[in-house]
Amino acid sequence: TTPVEEVDPQEQRELEGRAAGLKVANTAHATRAIQECREACGGAGYMAENRLTALKADTDVFTTFEGDNHVLTQLVAKELLTAYADEVRGMSPVEWMKFAAVTVSDIVKKRTAAQQILQTLVDTRKDNEEDGSLFDRGTQMTMFEDREQYLLSTAARRLQAASNREENLFDAFNFVQDHVLHAARAHIDRVVLEAFVAGIESCPDAEARELLSDLCDLYALSVIDEDKAWYMEHRQLSVERAKAVLRGINERCRTLRPHVPALVEGLGVPEHLLGSAMLDATDAGRLG
Ligand SMILES: Cc1cc2nc3c(=O)[nH]c(=O)nc-3n(C[C@H](O)[C@H](O)[C@H](O)COP(=O)(O)OP(=O)(O)OC[C@H]3O[C@@H](n4cnc5c(N)ncnc54)[C@H](O)[C@@H]3O)c2cc1C
Repeated sequence: TTPVEEVDPQEQRELEGRAAGLKVANTAHATRAIQECREACGGAGYMAENRLTALKADTDVFTTFEGDNHVLTQLVAKELLTAYADEVRGMSPVEWMKFAAVTVSDIVKKRTAAQQILQTLVDTRKDNEEDGSLFDRGTQMTMFEDREQYLLSTAARRLQAASNREENLFDAFNFVQDHVLHAARAHIDRVVLEAFVAGIESCPDAEARELLSDLCDLYALSVIDEDKAWYMEHRQLSVERAKAVLRGINERCRTLRPHVPALVEGLGVPEHLLGSAMLDATDAGRLG
């Protein structure tokens, strides 16, 4: 008989959370990327012969089936918030409430204060380092981690306050839902960034590593740019630095553009899917 493999329930939950998060990230990205391409190609992008509409029709529903993206994002958040509760396993509910009321708010206050001071020092520097540090992977990772940590701990506190205030726990959860989903998205962004960094580390080709590093900058800066309002509201990004994020994105787009054929090649798209009709009419075989 085959021995039954022991499954660690915690690891299993982590794996489910990771799979849910990556499903959301990949399907949302595919839908957005195809729409971007369609619009970039104008009317030609809408022509069936150029295949973007078929791709769009095929992939759009992935955001809904195999688990709706909102519901899966909730699952990621619930997993993360449960991990919080696991830390205080063994405490009575009253002890837990006391712990959360004191410790969680302390952690947030400490981090926020330190973050503000450090960030203000960095932001008010007059040298060119300001833009440069946005390309520093450590800085990018810290910005991702701090956002996630802050969103999670404040979501935990708001959930707790809402569950004390609202009679119905469903209403209590809905009251904080936008915040909870934001925390989960911040977590997914970090998982993707960490995977990207690990991927670059394991790449044996120096030239490819450099290219991937630029692409990773583009990813990190785009995520920061999309949540710029949050970073600025929480004093983690000054106005000057926020402008530098956009400059950084534009610079990276410029440096990466000549390497687009290599990047497309790297994705391993089958030959027969490359070189659509509109490319034949204009600049034949450029990507093929
Ligand atoms: C082409 C296609 C093929 C499919 N194939 C299969 C299949 O082979 N097998 C199978 O079992 N199922 C299949 N499904 C069903 C699919 O899994 C469901 O459509 C999906 O789970 C979403 O459920 P729903 O359609 O009932 O939408 P709903 O759950 O009603 O969702 C509608 C909206 O409400 C939101 N929403 C729902 N619940 C919550 C919540 N708790 N909190 C916040 N917002 C919420 C959603 O985000 C969404 O925006 C298929 C669906 C499609 C479209």
